[in-house]
Amino acid sequence: MKNWKKTSLLTALILLAFLFCLGYILNVNLSVSSSDIEFSPAKEQLNSNAEYQDKPKNIILFMVDGMGFGHLSLAMMTQQATDKTSIWQEFDAKGWHDARSAYGPLTDSEASATAIATGTPTGFGHIGIDTDGNRLENVFEMASNRGYVTGIVTDSYIWDGTPAAFAAHTRNEDDARDIMTQMAASELDLLFGELEDLGEDDVPEKEETLNILTKRFTLLDESLVLPSTIQGLPIAAVFDEDQVQNLNSSPTLPKLTEVAFTYLSAQNKPFMLLLESEEMDAASHENDSDRVVKGLKAIQKTLALVMEFSKANGQTLVIFTADHETGGLSAVADFDNYPNLQIRWTTKDHTAAVVPLFADGPGAENFADVHRNWEIGQRLKRLISLDQKSDEQP
Ligand SMILES: [Zn+2]
Repeated sequence: MKNWKKTSLLTALILLAFLFCLGYILNVNLSVSSSDIEFSPAKEQLNSNAEYQDKPKNIILFMVDGMGFGHLSLAMMTQQATDKTSIWQEFDAKGWHDARSAYGPLTDSEASATAIATGTPTGFGHIGIDTDGNRLENVFEMASNRGYVTGIVTDSYIWDGTPAAFAAHTRNEDDARDIMTQMAASELDLLFGELEDLGEDDVPEKEETLNILTKRFTLLDESLVLPSTIQGLPIAAVFDEDQVQNLNSSPTLPKLTEVAFTYLSAQNKPFMLLLESEEMDAASHENDSDRVVKGLKAIQKTLALVMEFSKANGQTLVIFTADHETGGLSAVADFDNYPNLQIRWTTKDHTAAVVPLFADGPGAENFADVHRNWEIGQRLKRLISLDQKSDEQP
């Protein structure tokens, strides 16, 4: 064999060996990452019917955007020393869920809220749709079809990712006009929240916003006085940017929650209520420790109202959770001022931390062993459909 032939053969062999190794490495890497992000909702992971006997009449889902176990620990450690228990210790079921998105270990509010609202994992910025753009039925749509009254109370703007995931379907999270138009065309009965960036980009001016909302809702003024006849009357109340979220102004999230309970109780129907606090996410993106501490108090106050309502009502499932953690917050000892604490942050972004999931009341046991955020949506759908089956019985 001539020298050049030998050299070519050797080069070809080296190239083949290299490609083989590369293929092997890529293959291994791909299989590791794909097993990491595999989300197909396996049916065998669902609980059997036997575990769904204790069905609630009403469901309250309280989602705190950005709240991880660091925020929870801080809330519990900074409570009054005279308090024997924290509000979170009152829950029957205490656990966590893994909120990763269809794109990997991180998520955003749209993806996580959609997973929780629909039972299907999805990608960043996807509202009520899967990664292929298919429309997903959400728990509110399912509940409305079965005679429930549905409501959203948020301290954020009404077209924000979390509320939107329960009332709209879009790939464009910034298209406020479209999201609100979908909300006004939905079966939603109550909508309380803020307006933001009016007149900018895809956000209509206030007049147009109110015109969209009045297609379905009777608008309350800032006094929040309910009309004398509210049965079957969809209502909404909208406030200026930061009017609810700013803890020094009014109305507060607890006040809006109280009005919502008055409205929902008067309907004499089962209800499903989404309560959202955006405070932890907003403050944690800024690494604003003081705002986190103050915000946690507003969240505890709102949660205390929820628990009080559900204990008195006796037929209400309460779920408290987060869409993801923001900030990588941890409270460490301040040894110069012991026992005071110092708050440390690891990022101004979302983290890949698992987040708290608590449940209380009838049906709470179904949420004691949730692994992924989308399982919450699947279990809620199961509970809602059971309700219908029992209603159909003579
Ligand atoms: Zn965020």
